[in-house]
Amino acid sequence: MHLRHVLAGLALAGLIAAGDALAQQAAQPAAPAPAPAASPILTTPQREITKIAGEVYRFRNNNHFSVFAVTPAGVIATDPVNKDAAAWLKAEIATRFGKQIKYVIYSHDHADHISGGEVWADTATVVSHVNAKPVIIGEKRPTAVPQLTFTDNLAIELGGTVVELSYVGRNHSDNSIVMRFPAERILFAVDFIPVKSVAFRDFPDAYIGEWIEGLKRVEAMDFDVFAPGHGPLGALADIKAYRGYMEDLRGQVLKLAREGKSVDEAKQMVDLSKYKDWAGFAQMSQLNIEGMYKYVQLNRRGN
Ligand SMILES: [Zn+2]
Repeated sequence: MHLRHVLAGLALAGLIAAGDALAQQAAQPAAPAPAPAASPILTTPQREITKIAGEVYRFRNNNHFSVFAVTPAGVIATDPVNKDAAAWLKAEIATRFGKQIKYVIYSHDHADHISGGEVWADTATVVSHVNAKPVIIGEKRPTAVPQLTFTDNLAIELGGTVVELSYVGRNHSDNSIVMRFPAERILFAVDFIPVKSVAFRDFPDAYIGEWIEGLKRVEAMDFDVFAPGHGPLGALADIKAYRGYMEDLRGQVLKLAREGKSVDEAKQMVDLSKYKDWAGFAQMSQLNIEGMYKYVQLNRRGN
């Protein structure tokens, strides 16, 4: 009996430790996957709804976040994240607020943010940037195809709540948009403005020059709270700091490339130590240098 009790305690300790490892992995999206556990561990996805300001809320599914606005006429939702998350949020919105989702606005075409849109499409109009639609169709994203697209700007009003959609150029995709709730002074954008975090891997699907220019356009917008698609909420200072990181990285890598240094030499020589406390630094900073080096070499012509 005593032995069984001890064994049960050990098993529980193992489960908690494994849960911590998963939680840590969730906080760092591209950390290497943990070794497979000896027995399957069933973990409930970490989902929550938190109020940002007014009737605009943040929706979390593990390491992915989106926002939604509750209005008397229904809900303006953004990224569904995935099918199960979308079903959960749809039920929560019905239970807590007694509303239906009337709009779904995709941040960009990447599957890890917009899968599951079909769960909401029975009551909602699906909106995206014009460039997202052919990618969603072409890549067979597991989601609803956009019904309403825009090129530069689109304002959507529902039940007195306004969200302004803006395209600030290509960055982390060619169809990422900024969503601004002017009354609530909230800005939502995904993956191209990390908060206190370095960039993802080696800048896949990226347009770095336009990205930096687009960040300046976002900095000129009027808002108090910046809600990213991963990690904690931020503010204008975080967007400026991230642009500073991109410019610093580009400047250092370009200088070394012009001196004829190889990518491996650049990885040794670029000094990013002032960002060492940012999320993802250990896993991503060398990949960021590698990706920037490739970009810089593609966009220069030496002697
Ligand atoms: Zn993305």
